[in-house]
Amino acid sequence: MKTEIIRDPDPASIERAGRIIRAGGLVAFPTETVYGLGGDAMNPEASRKIYAAKGRPSDNPLIIHISKISDLTAVSADIPETAWALAERFWPGPLTMILKKNSSVPPETTGGLETAAVRFPDNRIAASFIEASGGFVAAPSANLSGRPSPTDIRYVIEDLDGRVDMIIDGGRSRIGLESTILDLTEEEPVILRPGFVTSEMLSEVLEKVSLDPGLSSEDPDFRPKAPGMKYRHYAPKGDLTVVYGSPENVVKYINEQSSLMRERGLRTGVIASGPDTGKYRADSVKNAGDRHRPSDISSALYRILREFDDEETDEIYSEAFDGPGLYCAVMNRLLKAAGHKTVNADMLVKEAP
Ligand code: AMP
Ligand code: MG
Repeated sequence: MKTEIIRDPDPASIERAGRIIRAGGLVAFPTETVYGLGGDAMNPEASRKIYAAKGRPSDNPLIIHISKISDLTAVSADIPETAWALAERFWPGPLTMILKKNSSVPPETTGGLETAAVRFPDNRIAASFIEASGGFVAAPSANLSGRPSPTDIRYVIEDLDGRVDMIIDGGRSRIGLESTILDLTEEEPVILRPGFVTSEMLSEVLEKVSLDPGLSSEDPDFRPKAPGMKYRHYAPKGDLTVVYGSPENVVKYINEQSSLMRERGLRTGVIASGPDTGKYRADSVKNAGDRHRPSDISSALYRILREFDDEETDEIYSEAFDGPGLYCAVMNRLLKAAGHKTVNADMLVKEAP
């Protein structure tokens, strides 16, 4: 398939993109979180094509993207008051809500579930594209299954050129991590995937909100409720370790490991934050931004993982970015990318004689 790449989307190209979706084709498009791989959410054949293009297991449901709040009623007949309140407060924005689906949403779009995930993205190009497409665009992230989500068109092209009809450029994704997923189908709202909209922010609207215990469990039989969270997502090709400890010990441990690895002929990389970036002696040191600004780290993380792939880095070490709010989403993705491989440098660094 020949993929048309739109560098400067104008109303005519967005109209063309919409026609592709209405005819059952696929278009990758920018959002404020990551790029999406879109198809008509109401067309089962389009959803099947999305799974095929991504190489994604078909039990992993898609998010339905809408461009006006009132369109919620077209996908769900059972919308709690809290959903309207959340939509008023957070839409357009990086919050996905899980609701009971109605019969117009095909099971192919929801991975066979009786629930549907819905989001109204905060991106001008996304909004006009969704509208031109008929209002309901099913989309997972626009990467091949298992690779980090793309935050720049460059990586969408790398993964999907020849597999979709069109790719629309929208520059770098502002947030850089996938949306917060909130389940509203149980008695109390549950966060199934942490994101830019934090539980602290949700508490402004909700009396109660909790985190899916499956997210933090180390027990492999304890499955998270969002089907996508069970896969080893977001992973770079190299081996990634998250290093906890005092900044001093983290630098020391990573530098020790880097020299050991280099002696073995392996290429090493570090995900570091200011002001410590200059202290590392790996082959490639990536600055994820200011560690006191988690939004810096969130917008840089996937790009950095992709760059390490491009550079064929074998061993990657990352500082840990622990903290409240958005740090929770950053660490969730980082630990998944690392397959939960962590070390505590405070226990491992040798005291100077
Ligand atoms: P992606 O945008 O690639 O991260 O994919 C969307 C993710 O949304 C999937 O991996 C699922 O984990 C989650 N999701 C979509 N629909 C549902 C649903 N009905 N129930 C729970 N999780 C869902
Ligand atoms: Mg994804």
